[in-house]
Amino acid sequence: MECGKTIEITIFEDDTYEGGNYFGEFTVPEEESEGEYEKTGEWEGYDVVKWTGKKVSHEYWECDDCAGSSQDV
Ligand SMILES: [Zn+2]
Repeated sequence: MECGKTIEITIFEDDTYEGGNYFGEFTVPEEESEGEYEKTGEWEGYDVVKWTGKKVSHEYWECDDCAGSSQDV
């Protein structure tokens, strides 16, 4: 949450929702787990790495205000 507001989301049985804006789910490396960045290849001169440890997934939500104002820019 960008603004730090607490939002209340209602999710209905048909998978629609109201009260916030869902931007998807993403996974980040869980730094405390035993893992390392393993090089799996190269892409345009950059190393492509894969995290070998555990991952935690986060859902990213924004409130209507934030989602609305970022669309205006
Ligand atoms: Zn917000």
